[in-house]
Amino acid sequence: MTKNIHWLGHDTFKITGDRTVYTDPFKIKKKDAADIILITHEHYDHCSPDDVKKIQGPNTIIVTTSDCAKKLSGNIKIVKPGDKITANGIEIEAVHSYNTNKQFHTKDKSWVGYIFTANGQRIYIAGDTDYIPEMKTFKNIDIALLPVSGTYVMTAEEAVQAAIDIKPKIAIPMHYGSIVGDKNDAKRFAEGLKGKIEVLILTEE
Ligand code: ZN
Ligand code: ZN
Repeated sequence: MTKNIHWLGHDTFKITGDRTVYTDPFKIKKKDAADIILITHEHYDHCSPDDVKKIQGPNTIIVTTSDCAKKLSGNIKIVKPGDKITANGIEIEAVHSYNTNKQFHTKDKSWVGYIFTANGQRIYIAGDTDYIPEMKTFKNIDIALLPVSGTYVMTAEEAVQAAIDIKPKIAIPMHYGSIVGDKNDAKRFAEGLKGKIEVLILTEE
């Protein structure tokens, strides 16, 4: 169920299948042609124009927030929380993503996470968020990609609470091992969910 999901480090995932979807491309090593690039907000480790160029082809659609869109060119769809679109055959919903106990990602910025359907699976990528009440409203999530590093986002313990609310079939930790956080955060996340939700710690590709 997760063989199509490749972790390229930090919040960068490549989802293969009928469509190639990338999330928050950062430190991209190999050139590629994405069908969809989902970018959650304009911080440099998420909205990286040089990395976008490495995977942007003539048919690539970029879905992102208005502040990140200003740094990019090509076929861009601007979204805010609550928007639902279909792009290159992929259904995408933009959802809230913000801090509650720090000021790096305030709610007024309208930055986003995404729930999108790829290979028949509903995948949620949270973006740089804390544990927020909206998470309780997400339905039928197959795979949840959740930040666990603390500092700018949820801690591993807060991410455990988030996963319990979201109830995905599989939770995958992210946002560690690059700028902040390390593998211990991912392990604490997995331990906290033991017996409750399956956690998969991916190896960076
Ligand atoms: Zn950020
Ligand atoms: Zn970040």
